[in-house]
Amino acid sequence: MKISNYELYKVTPRWLFLKIETDNGIVGWGEPVIEGRADTVNAAVKELMDYLINKDPLRIEDHWNMMYRSGFYRGGPILMSAIAGIDQALWDIKGKYYNAPIYQLIGGAARDSIRVYSWIGGDRPSDVGQAARNVVDLGFTAVKMNGTEELQYIDSYKKIDETVERIAAVREAVGNDIGIGIDFHGRVHKPMAKILAKELEPYRPMFIEEPVLPENNEALRDIANHTHIPIATGERMFSRWDFKTILSDGYVDIIQPDLSHAGGITEVKKIASMAEAYDVALAPHCPLGPIALAACLQVDATSHNAFIQEQSLGIHYNKENDILDYVKDRSVFDYKDGYVKIPQGPGLGIEINEEYVKEKAKEGHNWKNPIWRHKDGSIAEW
Ligand SMILES: [Mg+2]
Repeated sequence: MKISNYELYKVTPRWLFLKIETDNGIVGWGEPVIEGRADTVNAAVKELMDYLINKDPLRIEDHWNMMYRSGFYRGGPILMSAIAGIDQALWDIKGKYYNAPIYQLIGGAARDSIRVYSWIGGDRPSDVGQAARNVVDLGFTAVKMNGTEELQYIDSYKKIDETVERIAAVREAVGNDIGIGIDFHGRVHKPMAKILAKELEPYRPMFIEEPVLPENNEALRDIANHTHIPIATGERMFSRWDFKTILSDGYVDIIQPDLSHAGGITEVKKIASMAEAYDVALAPHCPLGPIALAACLQVDATSHNAFIQEQSLGIHYNKENDILDYVKDRSVFDYKDGYVKIPQGPGLGIEINEEYVKEKAKEGHNWKNPIWRHKDGSIAEW
């Protein structure tokens, strides 16, 4: 079997899908995208696919090493997202070739289902109490929300108070048994992150996420020493080599590699195992589409330390299209009592509605994240 061709489809709301074809008719799907730079990743995928045409798609480990190590310059969001989408598609092909779900080929299942959480509140959280109640009524047992809007290095206690009030409203609305993940989104700098983490403790968050930007990960030490709330990070880290220092430093409790950014199934499985050796939990980042989510579930199935999965159904970005729009069998992501079953079909376990993908690719998209500025005109972290 040889890789014969590929197609890229840029589809709403902000995704990029890759279809890799083989000479025996099996096709595989991947989702190589970094949010806001779909065209850049598209170009990177094309450059990498030049090497893969006419190659055996089953030699995934070799292709991964070729894509990663044969580039003298490597790593980072663009190249690792391109590798990630190609890797997902190659695993989809391999699963279909052996007529097995991917998890069967990487060790077999360690679980039958995984807990999922739902986003509430959008970019600038408000009315989150009612929003949280609504998703809990749908069966979710955990929610995640942005904690704050933009914050200066040293900002006002008024903004701290507003954040605390929002989290208090959510806790009040859902009761003590619902997990609340609070995403600082890298918007908070170390001085305010310490204050915020301390003030949020009475509401018993499930975790705080990206309390500081990943380029400031050494600040996690100070934050971890200030709070007992579990600290999560990793959506902007892209390989084993990016994760090794935070794991060995020991100030992180949950890692959140993204299956579409951190080198795909091959790499995230390895990152998950590294984390397990440090007693660190896995919660793959996934505000993306159905292919990325399907890839997450295959890794979750085989990773003992996976405890919850992000998913984007109803997320504030998914206005024009949502994850179920592009799959033929919408029951594949059927959430029940806050859990989703690991898909059992071959490969990624989903069937893409190619006609609809092609139709939507004619429109494409030009999604970019907003540019925020502080009151004084300086750029704020979004
Ligand atoms: Mg996040």
